[in-house]
Amino acid sequence: MDLVFTGLAAMPVPGETVAARSFELQPGGKGANQASAAAALGADVRLVAALGDDEFGRIAAADLRARGVSLDHVATVPGPSGVAGVLIDQAGENVVIVNPGANGALDGADASAVADRIGAESGALTVLASLEVPLDAIRAWARVARERGWRFILNPAPAPAEPLDDELLALVDVITPNQTELASIGEERLAAVVPVVVVTLGGDGAEVRAGGTVTRVPAFAVEPVDTTGAGDAFNGALAVGLASGRQIGDAVRLACAVGALATRGLGARSSLPDAAEAEAFAG
Ligand code: ADP
Repeated sequence: MDLVFTGLAAMPVPGETVAARSFELQPGGKGANQASAAAALGADVRLVAALGDDEFGRIAAADLRARGVSLDHVATVPGPSGVAGVLIDQAGENVVIVNPGANGALDGADASAVADRIGAESGALTVLASLEVPLDAIRAWARVARERGWRFILNPAPAPAEPLDDELLALVDVITPNQTELASIGEERLAAVVPVVVVTLGGDGAEVRAGGTVTRVPAFAVEPVDTTGAGDAFNGALAVGLASGRQIGDAVRLACAVGALATRGLGARSSLPDAAEAEAFAG
């Protein structure tokens, strides 16, 4: 859950109280945003996550359900849900405080059992993970995906605090860093271990690095209102594109269209396109 304070004249310094111009609760979190983007495109989406047994968890769950995301594999654990306090000043700069809460409870211990249940319903899957949950959970799902021959996409965001180990990277089929995350993980290292690296470049689109070649996918022209969640929309759409059998270049093009469309509204989920809108826009 994002608690968003906007319109601060200046960021508070220690000991100071600053008035915001407005406040909003926005259901957020990378995994939930990515699941929402994929569901908006019509994909059959199951979120594997944990919520706290608090009001924010209930609001987050209701929002996801309304968007068509299955919560059958979302655990409710004692304590608070993951929250972010977001301060935005009048110049548009932001400061963010995160408490992982329930997200920290995910350890992947049941990954194999959950994958069996989902696999029995759906057959081959595309698994998309980001780094707002513990690495143990990500490692467990990467292994599960590899064992079953499912595609595993890692969005290494936010930039990892501890280095990503080669054992994990070797289980990744497609990795999607932005430029900051690419620099923090190391370009050469990624190129050596992960077969497909998709670098997102904000208003400049994206780059696909695979098999020793680099292909640039241009951005779609939009007048952005708020770029929060563009990366999440991009990742959700990329997963849907690949899951529906598109080649990587086509899937990245769809992802760029959806990322661009997602910047038209405030927050990460207010302007997610459906498949018809995304395809008409992508041309
Ligand atoms: P993140 O939010 O993770 O840093 P980016 O800012 O790179 O990710 O945005 C993800 C994708 O969303 C980009 O690759 C691009 O396709 C699209 N996008 C983001 N900002 C814009 C923009 N201003 N205009 C058009 N497309 C954008």
